[in-house]
Amino acid sequence: MRASVLELSPTERLAAKVRRGLAPPPELTVSEFSDRELMVTTGKYAGTRWQTSFAPYQRGILDAFHEPGVEIAVVMGSSQWGKTACAVCIVAYHIAHDPCPILVVEPTVDPMAKDFARNRLEPVIAASPILRDTVSKKRAKDSSNTILHKTFRGGSLAVGGANSAASLAARSTRLLILDEVDRYPAELPGEGSTLAIALKRTAAYRGRRRIFMPSSPTLKGASIDVWFQRGDQRRYFVPCPACGDMHPFLWENVQWDGPRVKPSDPGARGHVWRANHEPRTARLHCPSCGYGMGDAERLAVLQAGEWRPSAERSEPGIISFHMWEAYSPFSSLSEIVSGFLRARQAQKGGDNSEMHTWQNTTLGEPVEPDAGEGVEPHVLLMRREAFGDLDMPAGACCLTMGVDVQDDRLELLVIGWGPGEESWLVDRQTLPGHTEQPEVWKMLDEVLDHQYKHASGQRLPVQATCIDSGGHRTTMVYDYAARMAARRVFAVIGRDGQRPIVSSPSPRRWGRQQRQVPLYTIGVDAAKSLIVSRLKLTEKGAGYVHVPLVDWADDELAAQLTSERLVMRFTRGVPAQVWKKIRPRNEAFDCAVYALGALRLLHPDLELLAQRLAGIDPPPPAPKPQRERWLPPRRKGWLR
Ligand SMILES: [Zn+2]
Repeated sequence: MRASVLELSPTERLAAKVRRGLAPPPELTVSEFSDRELMVTTGKYAGTRWQTSFAPYQRGILDAFHEPGVEIAVVMGSSQWGKTACAVCIVAYHIAHDPCPILVVEPTVDPMAKDFARNRLEPVIAASPILRDTVSKKRAKDSSNTILHKTFRGGSLAVGGANSAASLAARSTRLLILDEVDRYPAELPGEGSTLAIALKRTAAYRGRRRIFMPSSPTLKGASIDVWFQRGDQRRYFVPCPACGDMHPFLWENVQWDGPRVKPSDPGARGHVWRANHEPRTARLHCPSCGYGMGDAERLAVLQAGEWRPSAERSEPGIISFHMWEAYSPFSSLSEIVSGFLRARQAQKGGDNSEMHTWQNTTLGEPVEPDAGEGVEPHVLLMRREAFGDLDMPAGACCLTMGVDVQDDRLELLVIGWGPGEESWLVDRQTLPGHTEQPEVWKMLDEVLDHQYKHASGQRLPVQATCIDSGGHRTTMVYDYAARMAARRVFAVIGRDGQRPIVSSPSPRRWGRQQRQVPLYTIGVDAAKSLIVSRLKLTEKGAGYVHVPLVDWADDELAAQLTSERLVMRFTRGVPAQVWKKIRPRNEAFDCAVYALGALRLLHPDLELLAQRLAGIDPPPPAPKPQRERWLPPRRKGWLR
């Protein structure tokens, strides 16, 4: 017979409280709850019931917190294994079945937090009667339920962004979903480490908090990699249909027709690029008996799989899972192999970024930071080649220019581009003169009017130019870009951080007449990485940089082109790669960045231009050069 609370002594009351705290776990697990109550609301299977068995590896992840003592479940994985759906299931379970304060942190408020709340969570709530009933309906005058904030019996839900201190503001939470932690800013100004701020929110619930941390990785040593290592590093083992041996899916066991395996090639992880690859023939092989599985068998054996730890659990409350595309019912082996082959081809042209992305988002593995060593200046000088009395050989079919603005001079570099962005340094000049005076800019006019001698006998002008407006001659640069817009002279500003080499322009107004010029942003980190990896190429062809045997291609040019090194910088323990000058002058390197930017803004069809210059008629109808959607039309708008 249960006595009323009033009749209990303080000690007995405390004991009762403790008993309630230690109550047996709810009989339903997250996966059972999801199978019973939830609908799929996005993708191919929208409108069907949620079935954990559709991607059976999800069961271990969904039910991670039912294991005794587990407070933190980390998933380091590719981008398509059902990560967001799992996060939604866990949130839904806690709304309906185990209510508590819930905080979901996306990398940004807008668009990511809003997208998660509006497009992933909201439809699942709307489609489930039990959730619909629990989450009180939004009424006109009721602010308790908005897209990002909801209240329900026994708990609340907030969805926020790691870029906003307000999102992470002191609010105690028991269930914390930290989505894509490798995309969080390392710190919030004046607040400290973003991840630490978020984790602090769970302090009051230590011992019974639940922290779900799924992310695709970036660099080795970055957040998700570190947290994965702190856990027991589980991998999903499946039985071989032929011999029954249990093993995890590994990329090195994927083979396809075309190439032969060459295990010594580290970047290729055992596969060598050749033109005649046939991704459709891809099979996952058993490491014990060699049996090769196709897609149907690959998905069938998942049902009999199980998670097995591959490391000792160093901290009792943390478990971790690794997941990659080969397990996913959302992709096929041929897609995985095709993605690899594309990345491998880009890598051959000196561009490592696509391979890094593939390793992060398909293999779910962090990449080693690019080696800090660049190219040695003498290596560039040794490779100089004579172009004869020409400015450029036949391969270079499109010229772009990068201009760096100093107080007392303009520095410029003209680069010729061919198919595969093989490039030739064509001209380098220093135009002396104070850059706030018009004279030096008239000299730049002459360079733009100059026609360079091509091997075909034709003469080619510079097709597009980027001028750095980031110095303190901004107005002069805007003036010049506006005046020479018809010659495709673009005002640009270099910005570091994760951004593409060129991005859409923002209009700038200046001067008394409030004239307008589009200002383009150049992602200097991406551009510098590409240029340095291309300078390292030793084989002529796609990406290779040709240096002419001329006066201006001297020690100074070589030193400037190799003047920056990629180094690791840690902000509150989070690593990032930054470019660091190793000598004071580096104008030629900056000019090369802007010339590459000009090429990307121009976006010419280099194959077609090469055919035209070689006198080969292009196949009719002649395709127009592709231009990015956001580029202004050539003869309208801001052109005068
Ligand atoms: Zn086997």
